[in-house]
Formats: sequence, structure tokens, C-alpha cells
Amino acid sequence: MICLTLSASTLEGNAELVRANRGYIDIAELRVDLLDEKEQERASLFPSMVDIPVILTLRRVQDGGRCSLSERQRRQLLLSALEGGFAYVDIEEDIKRNEVETAARERGVKIIRSFHDFEGMPEDIYSRIYRLSERGDIAKAAVTPHSISDVLTLFRISDELKGVDKIIIGMGDWGIPTRILYRRVGSLLTFASAADAVAPGQITARDLKTLYHADEVSGKTAIYGIIGNPVMHSTSPQIHNPGFRAINYDAIYLPFQVDSVRSFFSLAEYLHMRGFSVTIPHKTSVLMFLGNISREVKQIGSCNTVIRVPGMWKGMNTDYYGFLAPILKDIESGRVRSALVIGAGGASKAIVWALRNRGVKVTILNRTLSRAADIAALNLCEFDTLENARKYEGQVDMVVQTTSVGLYPDFDLNPIEGFRFTGREIVYDIIYKPRMTKLLSEAQKAGCTLHYGEEMLLEQGKLQFELFTGYHYPRITEA
Ligand code: NAP
Repeated sequence: MICLTLSASTLEGNAELVRANRGYIDIAELRVDLLDEKEQERASLFPSMVDIPVILTLRRVQDGGRCSLSERQRRQLLLSALEGGFAYVDIEEDIKRNEVETAARERGVKIIRSFHDFEGMPEDIYSRIYRLSERGDIAKAAVTPHSISDVLTLFRISDELKGVDKIIIGMGDWGIPTRILYRRVGSLLTFASAADAVAPGQITARDLKTLYHADEVSGKTAIYGIIGNPVMHSTSPQIHNPGFRAINYDAIYLPFQVDSVRSFFSLAEYLHMRGFSVTIPHKTSVLMFLGNISREVKQIGSCNTVIRVPGMWKGMNTDYYGFLAPILKDIESGRVRSALVIGAGGASKAIVWALRNRGVKVTILNRTLSRAADIAALNLCEFDTLENARKYEGQVDMVVQTTSVGLYPDFDLNPIEGFRFTGREIVYDIIYKPRMTKLLSEAQKAGCTLHYGEEMLLEQGKLQFELFTGYHYPRITEA
């Protein structure tokens, strides 16, 4: 079930949130502690205002909520709310048997026994969850993983505690896979927000339902993802998930924040993952775990795509093809014979090799000259410093920008400030956020032909999709 955590301060406001999200959710949690004081006394009315089951929760400050009432007052408030038709009530682990529990059992309201850890993961997490479930209640653990190996510990709960009714939540960015793949963790439900997250790392109900189809994940669903750090800004889930859907492939693609590539491979094996994309900073560190690499990876020394092949993982690089696709016809027609490549990082390596492979004469400009020299030596091209950029004005057919200068939020930076375009150049900036970088807007003013980072992103994603599924990327018709 997808559960919407209700964050409005009035019952009417919360009923409106349920209506607005009704197509995405199965159940809602009324957080009485987030209601205005007057509204808290009316909480029992809420279940009759909506057409889905509701969880009653009055979260204490120590558990991340706003309720600062004495325990006696809190019990009174919960008892009066229970007079309404709630389906579940959340009672914290440390609360001894009391009249709230008795009233809930008499009324057939299911009890969720919960504990929260905002600092980390308790060492005895498995036995603690087991103890909470002993009286037939639903055990709930909301904990804070700090590494990908903590995330693996959470996924293992599904095997360690088979048959136990439970809700397991990894909070923060590390925990996001446990929220999306909640059915693989063995959770009865996952919590979602309407817009702004109520708890760290919460995803919107709309994304869980319409982007990830999280409630349809089964033991057979093929799992793909993207690893990086940071990675939550990645737009690759918006490319792959609609693609899987359009070809009727039972698969899901989600972001994994990863610190240790070695630990991630353990998780990937555990989840029987079929493949994943790789972004900064793991494009090189992933290499030592691969049993097979493509010719491009060998040459470029960086891998952005990993797929499962019998008995091993295979690494490929689609940045190379993704970059070339939008300009291939200009190279083939002879319009592009020379290029100035700004930057000498991981992306530049793939781009310089792609251009040289097609016979384009390349000069690399970089802040750190030695890095430009290294790539130039491998690819038989020229190199220079960024300060000398103006020497090349009017000398090249294409300018490719591959540094991170100008990337969100530094919209007003340009690594070759003052460079004058003639208007005849093709100018390609591989940054995709923002779409129109400062460098591109200056090139546009001069009348140059522009190519955007999102073109490369989409092309490399489509090729990845082919490697993942064996199918061409489909035409996507849904919004
Ligand atoms: P990287 O390996 O970290 O390389 C960063 C490059 O930026 C280096 O050349 C570095 O110069 C330069 N740089 C960083 N800060 C600078 C500054 N203040 N002044 C001058 N130069 C600076 O990163 P990468 O993997 O190559 O990625 C670079 C950019 O490409 C990122 O914005 C990334 O999002 C984008 N990208 C886009 C796509 C796509 O599909 N559109 C694919 C891959 C990457 P030094 O060598 O002097 O440090």
C-alpha cells in the first residue's frame, strides 16, 4: 500500500489532500500532532470524511513529531480520537500496555508498534522488530541508514523476518531505495508525501505510483538503477521507467546513493539486479568489479553502464555514443573537422576519444594543464590552458564545453568568459541543468548552432535502455 502522510493543520485541509492524491494512494496517516490544537479534539471525525483506511498517529517530539503533551494527556487525546473509525493506531515501542491498546483491540483497530532512530540503525534491529510483532501487531522501524551497506541490512530483513507483519523505512537519501522497493523489503506499506516531505527522504505519492509503480513490484520485477553520490537529482528514472512501461516490461529503475561500490555490488547481487547506470564519482572505481568491459571502456577508462551477463557484470560506456549522436551528421558531412574541447575530466575523455575516432582534429583546454596533456597524449591531439582560449577564436568548427562550470546553481559562470564566437561554430555544452548555460546564450547571440546537454543525456539513456532490455527506446505517448 502507498500511504499518504497528511501534513495539513486542519481536518478539511487533510481531506482535500486525500482527494487530490486519491488516484495514487491506498491509505492515509493522520498526524494529529501536525493539526492545530482545536482541530486535534475533532480528530475522531476524520475517517468519515475520506473513503480510504486511516492510520491514527500522535507523534511525540522525541520521535520526530510535534506532540509535547504529557503522556496522560496524549492517551486521552488518542482515546477520544479512537471513537472514530480508524483502521490502525500507531503506538510507540516503549509505551506499556494501557487503555489505548485495550480500546484499539476492542474496536478491531490494528496496532502498529513503532520505533524511530534519527541517528542511525540499532545493532539489534532484527530482534527488536521481531519483539514488536510478538503480540500479532505490525512492527514498524523507521531508522537512518548512513551507507549502502546499512541499506543492504534493511533489505535483508525480508529474508530474516519472513512472515512478520512489518513496516521498514530507511530515512534520508540513503534510505530511498527502501521506500521505493518497499515490497522487496517486505513492508506492508510505504509512506509518501503530498508535496513537501513530512519526513526526511519521503517521495511524493504521485511519483511512487505513476513514475515507479512501486505498488506493482513483485519478486519477478527486474531491478535497475543509477549509482552515484550525490544521485537524487538524476533524471534517468524519468527516462527508463516510462520506457519499461511502454514496452510492457516488468521492471523498475531507481536511484541508489552509493559510498562503497564493493558494498553496492553485494546489494545488486542480493536484489538480483539486471543492470545499472553509473555516475560521478564511481565511473572509474566500478571497473575493478567488472568481469568484462567493452572496447570503449578499455579505451576511455570510464564506465557509465553495467549489465548482468551470465556469471559476471559487464561494463560499457554510452556517454560516448550519446555525445556523438546529435552531431554525427555534421561530422560525416564534413561541417565539423576541428573542435575545441573545454575540460579534461571523465566526460572529456569519452568525448575527445569519440571525436578523434571520427577524424576530428581536437584541441583540449583545461584549468589543470597536466590533465589536458594526459588526454591529448592518449588521443594524439593538442592542448592548452583556459587562459589561452581566445587564441582559438575563429579557428575551429565546433566548441564543446565539458567542465562543470556553469552548472546549477552557478548559472552566471562561463569557463571561457570573453571568448568571441564568429557565429559559424557549432557550440555544444554537455551541462543539462540549466538547459541554456551562460556559454550557450553567448553563442546564441553570435548566431551559432547550439546543442544542449539534455540531448546527450537522452541519447546515452536511450542506448542504455537498449543494453538493459534489448529493445529500442519506445515512443512515449503519456505525459
Ligand atoms: P569531472 O571528471 O569532475 O571533471 C570536471 C572538469 O571541470 C575538469 O576539467 C575540471 O578541471 C573542470 N572544472 C571544475 N571546476 C572548475 C573551475 N572552477 N574552473 C575551471 N574548470 C573547472 O566531471 P565530468 O564527469 O567530466 O562531468 C563534467 C560535467 O559534465 C558535469 O557538469 C556533468 O554533469 C556533465 N555531464 C553531462 C553528461 C550528459 O549526458 N549531458 C554526461 C556526463 C557528464 P580540472 O581538471 O582543472 O579540475
